Amino acid sequence: MNKENQGLNTICTHVGELEDKQFRGAISPLYMGSSYAFQDVDVKRYPRYFNTPNQEALSKKIAALENTESAMIFGSGMAAISTAVLAFLRAGDHIVLQGDIYGGTYNLIVEQFNKFGIEYSFTGGLSETDFETLIKSNTKVIYVETPSNPLLKITDLRMVSRLAKKHGLVSMIDNTFASPVNQLPAKFGIDVIIHSATKYMGGHSDICAGAVACSSEHMERIFHLAKNLGGSLSDYTVWLLERSIKTMGVRVKAQNDNAQKMAEYLYVHKDINAVYYPGLPSHPDHEIAKSQMKGFGGMMSFELNAGLDAELFQKSLRLIKASMSLAGVESTVLSPAQTSHALLGAEERKNRGISDGLIRFSVGIEEPEDLIYDIEQALMTVKSGHVTVH
Ligand SMILES: *Cc1c(COP(=O)(O)O)cnc(C)c1O
Repeated sequence: MNKENQGLNTICTHVGELEDKQFRGAISPLYMGSSYAFQDVDVKRYPRYFNTPNQEALSKKIAALENTESAMIFGSGMAAISTAVLAFLRAGDHIVLQGDIYGGTYNLIVEQFNKFGIEYSFTGGLSETDFETLIKSNTKVIYVETPSNPLLKITDLRMVSRLAKKHGLVSMIDNTFASPVNQLPAKFGIDVIIHSATKYMGGHSDICAGAVACSSEHMERIFHLAKNLGGSLSDYTVWLLERSIKTMGVRVKAQNDNAQKMAEYLYVHKDINAVYYPGLPSHPDHEIAKSQMKGFGGMMSFELNAGLDAELFQKSLRLIKASMSLAGVESTVLSPAQTSHALLGAEERKNRGISDGLIRFSVGIEEPEDLIYDIEQALMTVKSGHVTVH
């Protein structure tokens, strides 16, 4: 079998699977062992060395999905991000990051990097100039996240890769929102690809995990720090994650289709002021998105008309849950102003285009007609001013 030639859903279902030689079961057996032989073996196995049978097997699947030589699984998305970033930085080095990034990543940088003596700069926008003007002689890493949260802005991956090569930097992307189903950054020359596997890889809101995919050379540096930091994932959860990724291709494609339908419905809705979804031709980055994504993903944001209460709208939804995380098969919404971006303050939120009426929408696999019905009845409630909480 040549994994290079296998299609997405075949990789999702099969690559890396462990053979059950004893009972010939159809799925990978789960090896929970934390103690393995050290004599006469090729590999000394230990969970925190990221090399138990199940960890190794799932890493192969993730590397095949991302088109990289190597992959590693972590205990959370933040464990993957912190380990990958710190592996390439030492005291006196500098990192350039996209301004619009996941709040946890932003906090990691501003709360921890000073004490390591690592310098950082965040871009104001997403253009080549925005990034290049920040690059200094001690810059080592360029870090992006596209599509971004919550406005689904798109960063040009060819541009990032070009800048990294020109200035000798390691390029990194948080590929969580797109998932490998919709975006393969390695194809554009991005060096290190990071996932919160808690999101689309897990897909059922019941797993917390992370992953990194890159060349074997880059992985050597990441692995060295990873075993020091110890952010490995329990084999039981590794095994559950393998099960989840089997359906990632079909899940995410269903979510892409639903999100496109929902975006088109919301775009022409008289109670909705704006829709942010890269699959809409009206999205300012639609052309870049089309040139680097295979699908536009299940995430979007929309803005209720002025005067419509976002909090009441969320409480009035019956099928769609108001919930903090994203990417599950169930649809969820949240208010960035009340949650992920609450700490920024009203003024900074306004600068970033995050209004109080903005709703982030993680579109699930339900029937779009049912999602539309739910939004319609919630809007009716908000407009009539009745507070009926379910
Ligand atoms: C959730 C998320 C993370 C952090 O992942 P955890 O698994 O919660 O540690 C990082 N980046 C993005 C884009 C995310 O959505």
